[in-house]
Amino acid sequence: MIEYFTKALVLDQENSGEFDKLIFFYTEDLGKVVAKAKSIRKITSKLASQLEPLNFVRVRLVKKNGFQVVDALAFDKIKASQPALELVRFIKEMTFELQPDRKFWLLIRKTFQNLKNNKKFSYKPLLKALGFALDFARCSVCDSKFVVYFSKTEQVFLCRRCAPTPIKDFIEIN
Ligand SMILES: [Zn+2]
Repeated sequence: MIEYFTKALVLDQENSGEFDKLIFFYTEDLGKVVAKAKSIRKITSKLASQLEPLNFVRVRLVKKNGFQVVDALAFDKIKASQPALELVRFIKEMTFELQPDRKFWLLIRKTFQNLKNNKKFSYKPLLKALGFALDFARCSVCDSKFVVYFSKTEQVFLCRRCAPTPIKDFIEIN
């Protein structure tokens, strides 16, 4: 049984069994991790409020047939807003489990700090860190270099003119 203690952002959660949940983290030390939080849906659970999506936490995990949450303490909570929820969904969908990336973690911290302080935030640095530099990006339909959308599922860029309506499954880059 191996124990880990790391900072993490709570990305999402899903019900599991009668009282448990699966918690999706992006962690500083391990990259994306899915861990079971036992009994978290019981009313007496102290962990439930700590493990809300958009919380930055210090979390203790153990690994024995998959990861389990032992303990977690939130040290920063981001208010749920459309851009914030879009951002965690983006991180969840664009990262792989157990591929730690310290630079990406710091970028996540900075991006959410900007969001929290109502500063401008952009997907550009995040996309670049994930290998999608915008310098050479072209619209996948017409080859225009004025790209404004990125599809997470297709992993392509689009210009404003070629974007489908309604815009679905695309993030606006600006
Ligand atoms: Zn185009």
